[in-house]
Amino acid sequence: MANSDRLGVDVIINDLKNNPSCVHGPTVLFERFLGNGHSRKFYSCSTCRDRRDCGFFHLADGKITSCKRELWARLVIEAAPILSHQERFKIWKTVKRLPASDRSYCSSCSSLLKKSDMSDHGSCAVISPISDEQLSHPSTILVPKESSKFEAQYLFATSSVSVIVGMLQNLNTSRVLCIGAPRVHEAIASSPHLNMSSLMMDIDDRYCSFFSPKQFIQYNMFNHHFFEGETAKNTYEHFISVDENLVIVTDPPFGGRMELLAHNLKQIQDDWRRSRGLDSHRELPVVFVFHNSVLFVFPYFMEQQVISSLPSFTMLDYQVDYDNHPLYSSGPKGMKNGSAVRVFVNLPQSMFPLPEESYHLCKVCDRWVSINNQHCDKCNGCMSKDGRTYKHCDGCNKCVKPSWVHCSDCSRCQPHDHRCQEAGSALTCHMCGHSGHKRMDCPKRKLGCTLSDDESKRKRRKRNKNTLPLSLEDERMRRKTNKNTLPLSLEDERMRRKTNKNTLPLSLEDERMRRKTNKNTLPLSLEDERMRRKTNKNTLPLSLEDERKRNMEIFSQLT
Ligand code: SAH
Ligand code: ZN
Ligand code: ZN
Ligand code: ZN
Ligand code: ZN
Repeated sequence: MANSDRLGVDVIINDLKNNPSCVHGPTVLFERFLGNGHSRKFYSCSTCRDRRDCGFFHLADGKITSCKRELWARLVIEAAPILSHQERFKIWKTVKRLPASDRSYCSSCSSLLKKSDMSDHGSCAVISPISDEQLSHPSTILVPKESSKFEAQYLFATSSVSVIVGMLQNLNTSRVLCIGAPRVHEAIASSPHLNMSSLMMDIDDRYCSFFSPKQFIQYNMFNHHFFEGETAKNTYEHFISVDENLVIVTDPPFGGRMELLAHNLKQIQDDWRRSRGLDSHRELPVVFVFHNSVLFVFPYFMEQQVISSLPSFTMLDYQVDYDNHPLYSSGPKGMKNGSAVRVFVNLPQSMFPLPEESYHLCKVCDRWVSINNQHCDKCNGCMSKDGRTYKHCDGCNKCVKPSWVHCSDCSRCQPHDHRCQEAGSALTCHMCGHSGHKRMDCPKRKLGCTLSDDESKRKRRKRNKNTLPLSLEDERMRRKTNKNTLPLSLEDERMRRKTNKNTLPLSLEDERMRRKTNKNTLPLSLEDERMRRKTNKNTLPLSLEDERKRNMEIFSQLT
């Protein structure tokens, strides 16, 4: 485990649209390095780092059977919300007309309620009353999904929202695309005097209950997936195409795959340029909030993919403050040197004045820096990265943290208690074990080096036991003798469905139609539906659970 953990997993960025989809949209092709020149490619969720959040797993060289495809499609349909975005926002409009005391929000069902509906939610966690302020700032009543290793919802403190909105005003922004930044969206949408319009794109569909389909789009920033399909994509395309000053504000979840995010930010820039007929040197301004280690410490993929795809980003000294983060909030519980989260921008830093209590303008650098960040004439810059006063080391020929000392064994500055020479071993290739190059540049990898054929066949047989046939021929035989299996082609499947009313629909659209026209399948109330889901573990196909278990097994063999 520890070994392969260190070798890690790379993302292979291809045209994601052709990859199989999980409930979070198209999956991503990963390559796990197993050492000794071996690697394994597989499709897995673009978003969830924890298999318990999304169990999708498929080996890249494994067959995609129609049986698998059916299971995947079924999962996506099962995960769709009962009410459409439009229907949910209609409830908002009704509730908005009521006095605060007659409004409530059910956190268990994620829905707004009128007072008269509250009796259906006896055993739920219901919030009431709901003020106008809360109705326009839902992040203040939605419980942040922070424990999950997936959404990682950490909300800006009011002070940081003001600083970011102030930055946008300074840039003369009139349109803001808030990607994973609900508090910034709320601030703009509820302040007409700012003269800005905002479109929020976020994976958390609870916001459908508070913002119209023109204001909020359920979106996955790791695969550029629009959950509500073409209509939502059109809304996005129209929003970015209007000839006004557009800025992106994004605060992606900690631990997300940065190379995917960088790729999709570039995609958005391309969409923006294309829709306005701009040439390729025009850059769309981005206010990008992230941990400050991202651009400086993360050694491998950051330097390769992110820096090269976001070449003009620099880091502001501003320390971003959160309401609900254990480390990155001001106050006694926060980090010793204050929050390590920063704002990265692709515009000159002089355009971003910072609050004068804690920051000042360095005239030489022409940028706003922490009060304690002292200009170094030798480095020709304000070099502190954490707000403390760095000191210049002539041995290293750069400024270093105040507590570091120059170590003659390491020939560089290090913390007092470091162990010498630790860092040297990091330069061996994960693919072949030789030094002098990294795994992406490994000559073995370029030859398509994966498990040897014999070896992979043996492993696959052992893994799959009776679950997957070894060849298509075997599968045909098996199916001929077994009437209960699934059809081999989509055409077969369509035929089967036409003659069999009890099967699942092929598309989400079909499913919505079916639910609308068929009173027996729709639950009588949201409460009923919730009960059904709670008490009936079998609503998901049984084989899905099996599927998940099997995936876990395969995955654990790879780790
Ligand atoms: N500080 C911000 C919130 C950042 S938390 C604010 O106060 O406005 C990260 C945000 O990204 C959350 O809103 C979360 O729902 C969203 N998010 C997480 N994963 C995402 C994904 N794959 N695609 C789009 N949004 C995502
Ligand atoms: Zn997923
Ligand atoms: Zn300076
Ligand atoms: Zn210096
Ligand atoms: Zn030194």
